[in-house]
Amino acid sequence: MAEIRVENLRKEFSGFTAVQNSSFTVDDGDFFVMLGPSGCGKTTTLRMIAGLELPTSGRILLGGEDVTMKRARERDIAFVFQLFALYPHMNVRKNIGFPLLAQGMPRAEIKKQVEEVARLLRIDHILDRPVSGLAGGDRQRVALGRAIVRRPLCFLMDEPLGTLDAEFRDLMVHELRELHNRIGATTVYVTHDQLEAMSMADKIAVMNHGIIEQFGSPREIYDRPRSMYVADFMGSPPMNFLRFHSGLVRGASTVSVHGAEIVVPEIREDIAPSALALGARPEHIRLDDASRLRGEVLGAEYLGTTQIVVVRTGDGLVRARVPASDQVRTGETVGLTLSGAHLSLFDTASGRAIETALYEGARHG
Ligand code: ATP
Repeated sequence: MAEIRVENLRKEFSGFTAVQNSSFTVDDGDFFVMLGPSGCGKTTTLRMIAGLELPTSGRILLGGEDVTMKRARERDIAFVFQLFALYPHMNVRKNIGFPLLAQGMPRAEIKKQVEEVARLLRIDHILDRPVSGLAGGDRQRVALGRAIVRRPLCFLMDEPLGTLDAEFRDLMVHELRELHNRIGATTVYVTHDQLEAMSMADKIAVMNHGIIEQFGSPREIYDRPRSMYVADFMGSPPMNFLRFHSGLVRGASTVSVHGAEIVVPEIREDIAPSALALGARPEHIRLDDASRLRGEVLGAEYLGTTQIVVVRTGDGLVRARVPASDQVRTGETVGLTLSGAHLSLFDTASGRAIETALYEGARHG
C-alpha cells in the first residue's frame, strides 16, 4: 500500500480550468473522500491520479514515486467505476479472477486468491453463479472483488454506490468501510453525498469550482469549517449564519445579535464587525424564553427524537434542532440561545472563517 501525494495539480480543458492547483497528501492506508457538487472537479482529479487524464501542470507521487507521466497500466492502481462493466457471460469466480488470468498467474493460485477475496466480501456462496442474475449489491461486491484481487497499491472509486437503491447503499457504505478496515488499502473515493463521506472517510477534501475548500477529518470539517461554503455544504440542515450589525462587537469576546449577548471566541484578526457572520449548527441552538434573540416559528419538521424548528428572525430563517418533546406552535414567538462553545465566525466579504482563540485552543484537542 502507499501514500498518494498530489502537488499543485491543475487541469484545463480548452481554456476552462476544471482543477486549480490542488495539493494534498493521502496517508498510507487512509480512506480519503473527495466531496463536492457536480462539476467541481472530483472525477477529473481522480482520473489524473489514475493516469487516465494528463495534468496541465503539477505532480502526482505514488508511494514516493513520481508517476505524473506514467500511463494508467503502469500505475499499480485499481479503479472502481460507478457502472462497473462485469463480463456478463462469465460467472462470479471468473469475473473476479480475470485480472489474475490476464497477468498469467497459475490457475491453482488464482483459485486460492479468488476464494480468499470472495470470503472477505462474503460472496463465497455465489462464486459459481452467473453475474447476470445478481442483485445490485452483489454485482458491486463482485466488482470490488475484481479490484481487490490484484492487491494494488491503492483503490480509486468514482461514486461506486451511485446506482444502488437507498437500502443497499447504506449497507454497502458500512461494508466498504469495514472492508477497508480489514485490508487497509489507501483509497480515494469520489462522492457528492456528504453522509457517505462522513461515515466512511478518514480525511475529506471538500471541493468547489476546481478548488479544495478544506481538507481534514470529518470532525474537523463539520466542527470547524474553514469557509461559509463548507459550513453550508456539510450538515443537514446546514449551518445557520447570523449577521452582525455595525458597532455591535462589544469587546474581545461578547457580541450582540439583535440585542442578545453572545459570548464568542476571542477574535484574532482585525475585522469590521459589519463584515462578520456568526455560524451556528442547528443542534447548537436551543429554545429559550429568556433570550432576546427572538423570532416567529414558521413550522417544525418532526424527526422522531428531534425536530427542526424554523424560526424567522430579523436575520432571516434560523433552523434549530431541538428535542421532539419541546412544545412549539406555528406562529408563536420564541427566544433562541446559541451555544457559545460551538460557534464559528466568518468574514462575509471573503467567505473565510476567522481565526479565533478557540480554533487554536479548546476545539483543537
Ligand atoms: P460529476 O459528479 O458531475 O462527475 P465532478 O465534480 O466529478 O462532477 P468533473 O467530472 O471532474 O466534475 O468535471 C469538472 C468540470 O470539467 C466540469 O465542468 C466538466 O464539464 C469539465 N470537464 C470534465 N471533463 C472534460 C473534458 N474531457 N472536456 C471538457 N470539459 C470537461
